[in-house]
This record gives sequence, structure tokens and C-alpha cells, in this order.
Amino acid sequence: MNSIHADKPAETVPRSAAPARPPNLLDYDLPALSAYFMELGAAGFRAQQVLHWVHRRGVLEFDEMTNLGKELRSRLRETVCLEPPVPAEVREAEDGVRKWRVSLSDGAVVETVLIPGPARTTLCLSTQAGCPLRCDFCATGRQGFTRNLSVGEIIGQFWLVLRELDAFGRVPGPISNVVMMGMGEPLLNLDAVLSVISLLRDDCFYGLARRRVTLSTAGVVPGIRRLAADRNPLRSCALAVSLHAARNELRDRLVPLNRSYPLERLIPACRDYAQARAGDSVTFEYTMLDGVNDSPRDAREVAELLHGLPAKINLIPFNSFPGAAYRRSPPAVLESFQRVLQRRGYQTTLRRTRGDSIAAACGQLTVASMRREQETIHA
Ligand code: SF4
Repeated sequence: MNSIHADKPAETVPRSAAPARPPNLLDYDLPALSAYFMELGAAGFRAQQVLHWVHRRGVLEFDEMTNLGKELRSRLRETVCLEPPVPAEVREAEDGVRKWRVSLSDGAVVETVLIPGPARTTLCLSTQAGCPLRCDFCATGRQGFTRNLSVGEIIGQFWLVLRELDAFGRVPGPISNVVMMGMGEPLLNLDAVLSVISLLRDDCFYGLARRRVTLSTAGVVPGIRRLAADRNPLRSCALAVSLHAARNELRDRLVPLNRSYPLERLIPACRDYAQARAGDSVTFEYTMLDGVNDSPRDAREVAELLHGLPAKINLIPFNSFPGAAYRRSPPAVLESFQRVLQRRGYQTTLRRTRGDSIAAACGQLTVASMRREQETIHA
């Protein structure tokens, strides 16, 4: 969360310094904006009114916020701004999956993917520009890490897709589910992510039920423990853990974070999380890599590792990208892996691949765009 005290007093600002950017109200959750408004001398409840205009109605002009006094509107115009990120490129696949490259104020670019389906429409948000974790099979991991996104840059992805769909004011809206599974590791940007979750969950704003907001982690154990200990119901969401291997030696290679938080620390943290959430299940994501982690032995190891944990397992066919060192497991292998887990009593889903024609997996569109830029430069 940006601090509202960040601006230095005028006399301490060097003469040559560029003017400070005014605070962006998209960076505030309700408690932070209420505190800010009280400092401005406005009643705290005005914060809820402003955020309702922005997040429920899609309004960015203070003059259109007609239930605010004239004086407050003019004070806001002078002291703050409302600037969502802007779409730089959008692509749509034949199956309806749409992917935006979203430009941030410093030129960083992240990706947001909309996945429509018969039962639900899911928006996949990025939480960091790039990612520091460098998972071996991930296009984003190859781009390196630029920085954490602010609250406004994360919730702004949701906001701009609603605007593109002309969906403000339609309740329930056309986006039924949110997953934080795009670029970045959400638990390495947890303060901002918790504020975003509270905006998504609050009935005054987007009003998504707890199970419709999913945070996906590669296994940052202190973050999982912090989520388990958080008692604020508005910051509660579903948890998904990217497992991809059930033995350390293989997981160390696929998910290098495993060297810091190996399975003997990760799985107990997941158990404690489920217990703290009254037995809620944890979803384990498992990307199926041909000949790497997709044998019957691998499936049995997954079943043993998760024994006694309320778990759902999502099997994900690998979405290849140029330069990838892995291939997608064949359909028969995927199915037999699933059967082993089902026979052991696990609820296991085999995810359909979507959006192949627009490189919809995390980081792929940015990689494709970087390649295009390089090709242009070298042409
Ligand atoms: S899979 Fe997720 S955590 Fe791993 S490098 Fe890619 S974005 Fe980061």
C-alpha cells in the first residue's frame, strides 16, 4: 500500500526534483482510504462512497461522484489521481480466451487473461512484473524480475477488463472467478495482494465469494502461514499450491524455490492452513511434463505425499512456448495419471488447454512480444 505521507514537505524537495506523482486512489483499500480521508478532514464513510464509484460503477472522474460534496470533489481533484493501467495489446483465441498485455506507468508490462466457460468466467491476474522464482518450465520465469505491482496495478487489471467488457453496473458481473496465477508469485507481494482480495470480496465493490478468489503460490511457506493466521474474513480466499513434483530432488529442478522451502516444510504448512480454515481443501496444481513427472510412480508419490490432507488436484497439460525444454504429456499418460489419483480417492481434474493460439499461458505473450521487438531491432 502506498503511504499517503510519502510526499516530502516542499522545503525539503531539491529544486531539480521532478514533481511527485499524486497518490493514485486505485492503490487504496477501504481501511487505508478511510484513514486518508480522515486526514483530509472528510468523514471516513466518504472513502466507501468513492471506492463504490470507482470499483462498482467504473467512474474515474471526481465530478461524476455526485454524492460527494463540491468541496471534497475539488480537494480530491487537487491532491490525488485515479489512473488505471492501460491495455497495450489484446488477443483473442478461437475458443474465446482473451489476453491483454497491460502497460504500467513506468513502462513495465504484465499480462491478464480472461478464460470464459459454460459454468464460470475466470480472470487471471498478474501480481508482479516478471517473477524472481524462475520455475524451469515457465515463460515468465525466463524474463527475470522487475518489481512488485501496487494494489492499483493489480486491481486495475480487473477494472480495465470490466471496462473493456462494458460490464460496470452489471451485477453479477461477467467475471465470476479470479485467480492470481498470472505473472509473479503473489505471496512475495502479500500486503498488496491482501488489499486486492479485500476489494474483490467486499460486497460494496466486486462482491466475489471466498471460493471464487484463488491465490496460487509456488510454495512460499511463510506466506502460507501468514494467510492461515489472518483472521480478517474479507482477506480470505481459496489457496492453490503449484506442486509439479512429489519428491525434492525433482521439485528442486522444476521449482527452485523448493530448495528454500522443501516438501517437508511445504506440506505441513498446507495442512495447518487447511486446519485453520476449518478443513477447507487446498488445490494442488500439477503441470504434466512428458517423461519428467508423469509416470505412475510419480502419481503414487503425489497420493502418498498428500495423504490425509483435504486436497484437490488439478492436472495441467503443459502449454509449450518457443525455447521450452519440455513437452506436453500425451493424453493417454494424462488419463492414467489421473486414474491412479482417483483410485486413491482424490478429487482430480484434468484441465483443458485453452488459448493455445494466443500463447495464453503465463508470460508467453510477453516473451512473444520481446522476440518480435528483438527481431525488429535486428532486422
Ligand atoms: S510458474 Fe509462477 S512462480 Fe514459477 S516462475 Fe512462473 S510465474 Fe513465477
